[in-house]
Amino acid sequence: MAVDLYDLSFAELKKLLQELNQPAFRAKQIWQGIYKNLWTDLADFSNLPLSLRDQISSQYNLGGLTLEKELSSTDGQTHKYLYRLDDGLAIETVLMGYHDRNTVCISSQVGCAMGCKFCATGNMGFSRNLTSGEIVEQVIKSAAILIADGKKLTNVVFMGMGEPFHNYQAVQEAIALLNDPDGFGMGKRRFTISTVGIIPGIKKLTSERSQTNLAISLHAADDQLRSKIVPINSKYSISALMKTCDEYLEKTSRRITIEWALIDGVNDAAEQARKLVDLIKGKLFHVNLIQLNPVDHFSGKPAQDLSARNFQKIVEGSGIPCTIRLRRGIDIQAGCGQLASKTN
Ligand code: SAH
Ligand code: SF4
Repeated sequence: MAVDLYDLSFAELKKLLQELNQPAFRAKQIWQGIYKNLWTDLADFSNLPLSLRDQISSQYNLGGLTLEKELSSTDGQTHKYLYRLDDGLAIETVLMGYHDRNTVCISSQVGCAMGCKFCATGNMGFSRNLTSGEIVEQVIKSAAILIADGKKLTNVVFMGMGEPFHNYQAVQEAIALLNDPDGFGMGKRRFTISTVGIIPGIKKLTSERSQTNLAISLHAADDQLRSKIVPINSKYSISALMKTCDEYLEKTSRRITIEWALIDGVNDAAEQARKLVDLIKGKLFHVNLIQLNPVDHFSGKPAQDLSARNFQKIVEGSGIPCTIRLRRGIDIQAGCGQLASKTN
């Protein structure tokens, strides 16, 4: 497979152009073409001599994602993109518009090995990690789509397919590439990594004192229930996870988001809310509730509005902020992995 320009850091791009006996300013031109002008085709680089363009395109690709399908929710605020990768596998990227921001939800892996019971991506199993270039390209394509519509991308969340901490290096490389102030320039605080609770990944993030936001998909507040719906809990128990969160909070002073998909009659009872409060009260957490997105392979149903609000009241009553996230794009199967799992 040809090397993808989205995989290269600026230093690597500079080296490449040196090898092609090009003056140093060409690297900057290409970098800005990719990350500032968001040109997605080498033919767009009209500021480069044709011979150089040909030379580059004979050895390198600019991107390997092919848009195969786009679905838009009836309210027009959520758009889901199915991209075909070089090797024929498929991933999803979801754009969500809010009144004050535009967020893209990106994938870090094709499939996922974690097998959470309620998750369409988990149900398809693990195929492979994405490269940093494939992660970057999802963001650039999304930013280009928004710009064409007069809008700006403001946030990136790793809440699409896959477990980002099982692809740690590529995820961090992608964030670093997109963070470059001479390029795309997206601040680290605009990224959120969502994890099922991979303790070594959280520890690594803590030691790097990264400004990237952290979200933990907890979904249950005792080991017995959590292990049933989130199998990796038998390896990384709730108490070990909470200890790791404490270290993160102590070193970074950055708020952690707890994610909780409310499943009717499974994890939506007041007792679970109270147990959750016992785990996090007095600490810098925020709880994000979402009523389950129904998926084909899992019999669970979304929690009723009443139990969601009750759960929220209990958490808020303890002084921890708690929001009920609107289920976005439910009419277009925008839940994690729901479209690609049918395609792969
Ligand atoms: N692997 C990471 C990130 C991808 S999943 C993680 O698990 O955090 C992104 C979020 O979607 C997680 O909080 C996950 O638990 C949630 N999710 C998965 N399937 C869902 C469904 N059917 N309904 C609602 N949320 C779901
Ligand atoms: Fe993987 Fe996250 Fe889905 Fe669990 S919820 S299977 S960790 S993508």
